[in-house]
Amino acid sequence: MDVINPATEEVVAHVEPTAPAEVDRLIDRAATAFPAWRAVAPGDRARLLRRFASIVDSHVEELASLEVRNSGHTIANARWEAGNVRDVLDYYAGAPERLTGRQIPVPGGVDITFHEPLGVVGVIVPWNFPMPIAGWGFAPALAAGNTVVLKPAEVTPLTALRLAGLALDAGLPEGVFTVVPGRGSVVGQRFVTHPAVRKVCFTGSTEVGKGIMAGCAEQVKRVTLELGGKSANIVFADADLEAAAAAAPAGVFDNAGQDCCARSRILVQSTVYDRFLDLLEPAVLAWRVEDPAQESAQMGPLISARQRETVSSYVDGADVAFRGGCPAGAGFWYPPTVLLARDGSEPHWREEVFGPVVSVRPFRDEADAVRLANDTPYGLSGSLWTRDVGRALRVARGVDTGTLSVNSHSSVRYWTPFGGMKQSGLGRELGPDALAAFTDVKNVFISTVEG
Ligand code: NAD
Repeated sequence: MDVINPATEEVVAHVEPTAPAEVDRLIDRAATAFPAWRAVAPGDRARLLRRFASIVDSHVEELASLEVRNSGHTIANARWEAGNVRDVLDYYAGAPERLTGRQIPVPGGVDITFHEPLGVVGVIVPWNFPMPIAGWGFAPALAAGNTVVLKPAEVTPLTALRLAGLALDAGLPEGVFTVVPGRGSVVGQRFVTHPAVRKVCFTGSTEVGKGIMAGCAEQVKRVTLELGGKSANIVFADADLEAAAAAAPAGVFDNAGQDCCARSRILVQSTVYDRFLDLLEPAVLAWRVEDPAQESAQMGPLISARQRETVSSYVDGADVAFRGGCPAGAGFWYPPTVLLARDGSEPHWREEVFGPVVSVRPFRDEADAVRLANDTPYGLSGSLWTRDVGRALRVARGVDTGTLSVNSHSSVRYWTPFGGMKQSGLGRELGPDALAAFTDVKNVFISTVEG
């Protein structure tokens, strides 16, 4: 597999896809490593994960520049992403000594519960956030006592491979965390069908996610799905319109819009619709699309020529309000683009574009805003802007989405839950509850009746 720098179209590396027999060997090795890893004393497992976090910390700059070359992420974002891996490891390093069960009152004995690790966990990662999404799977899985096999996306394997090397440097035993590069239909599919893999943690498109869920059903394999999104950014007339307009570009164009949480639909109350568009235009024109290695870059290229074709197909023939700029020449560049949705039947309004394209549409009142926001099979993220705290809470509760922010576009903090409603996913990652998804509860009764 040729790894291409999307900002220059140059080949930066060649990674050999793992052959089927080797995939099986690596899964078997992870299964063999499991009994010893689950038996590592909680404090020692915590220490190993903290050491892993610390080694990632001392390689943030190296990992970040690798991601800039492999994925075209801006250097500032890539540093945040490497730091996120460190922070997620640190956070879940606190888990092994705290993975406590319960003692439940019963007659004739003692009843206790244990959170047992599952075995081998298969993590399947998309190309849009190669480092954070890998960490959200492997860190809690390892902390709970599982071993991990991880498949990066075909086009973005480099940082995951480097992280696996850093794990060995930190002292994690061989076979505990293995990165298996290769094709989804070969490596990813084998995670689904191999009986030793007891859970699949998948992030990617809704279409592939449905197939994974169906495949996992065959062995009643546990599954977490983080899928697509079409999130709404709802701007009410009573909002700080200047702040809402200034923040809107970052809410959708960050990572060139290749973000499952991208607020790719802006709903604006009709009484301030024109004013909001007037404020949005300069903010979009000022959005800096340039060489992602530049410290000043706010957006780099799209991941591939194919992705650029897909994104263009949504814009061709659509009603363009205005567009920002982008470099010409080599690289998969695409300008930030604002489209107008007239009746909501437009594909750019209904489907996940996964590029720097946002659709804007007016709404009448609160009920209309919630109805339009919910008129999608997705439910991952979203934002709303208002100065009315009661309205903020009513609308936040009314929008069917897993993560929502008020007067901000933040979605992800490693210590709070993240995940989707409806067809955006199943289960939650990050935060205090994610560990539960990497364990099974076992109930044990001990009789105290005199024999
Ligand atoms: P994709 O579904 O094409 O691929 C995701 C991963 O699955 C890749 O590693 C791929 O090789 C693998 N894969 C493909 N076919 C497979 C199969 N049959 N069996 C097993 N594995 C298979 O998605 P993508 O294009 O890499 O990523 C973009 C999508 O990911 C978007 O829809 C985006 O919204 C979604 N995403 C969701 C989240 C979230 O947290 N909800 C985060 C990031 C991306």
